[in-house]
Amino acid sequence: MGTKTKIEWCDHTFNAWWGCVEVPLPSGSACDHCYAREWAKRWGVEWGHGKQRRMASESVWAQPRAWNAAARKEGKRARVFCASMGDIFEANADLDAARERLVSVIQSTGWLIWLLLTKRPATALEFVREHNGISSRVMVGVTVESQEAFGSRRRYIEDLSAEVPVFLSCEPLLSPIEFPDLWLAKHVAWLIAGGESSRNARPMNPDWARGLRDQATRAAVPFHFKQWGESGADLIRIGKKEAGRVLDGHTWDEMPTWFSEVPPPAVSE
Ligand code: SF4
Repeated sequence: MGTKTKIEWCDHTFNAWWGCVEVPLPSGSACDHCYAREWAKRWGVEWGHGKQRRMASESVWAQPRAWNAAARKEGKRARVFCASMGDIFEANADLDAARERLVSVIQSTGWLIWLLLTKRPATALEFVREHNGISSRVMVGVTVESQEAFGSRRRYIEDLSAEVPVFLSCEPLLSPIEFPDLWLAKHVAWLIAGGESSRNARPMNPDWARGLRDQATRAAVPFHFKQWGESGADLIRIGKKEAGRVLDGHTWDEMPTWFSEVPPPAVSE
């Protein structure tokens, strides 16, 4: 449940639990082909409303402190992605205790930068406000997979960005997305885009990815192109590995300067 990750933009993945419930949208959502749900099924974890979440073991909870010690020894901050097997801001009271425990772990691991990704920015906003920003080392990511998702999450992203740095994960990208003029520059610290990778993956039109790259570039927002998904730029299904992550001859790995600007850890952390 906590691992050295294969995700390019972070060093570790932390899951306080496995399990979730989908966030549907009328025109299709990122949850439709949720890879975590498929993966969890193989391990006997049930999914959806009223199902028991599988909580992390004590050895998983111990991992962030070990990552923190390693980062301190190396003198180099590490980035932790949370969560890949659920949504940390799922509105579910059964998860409150684990969320509170996570806050104390975040606050005591000064060498770690935490990237909390959610499709529930309204709940994230409430939580961040209740916890006074959680920490100066937290960035909240919001999935924006389509224009429709942007419309429904926009106002919470705007409010969140007044509390903590925010990144957008436009993955799996399911439609073109047009942000209002100056909106990205004002509210977003980092934009990640990518196609869907799963058995029934929906192809991503290359112009949708180009559109995001161009808007991010104009707004001076760092852009990271994570992957094509199962189909390449010609929309032919060739598999994720073959499709790769080169967009118009370039690997887009831009990172926010914020990562190097977060305050130095206290000596004891
Ligand atoms: S929010 Fe994330 S983990 Fe939960 S169902 Fe949707 S894609 Fe899966």
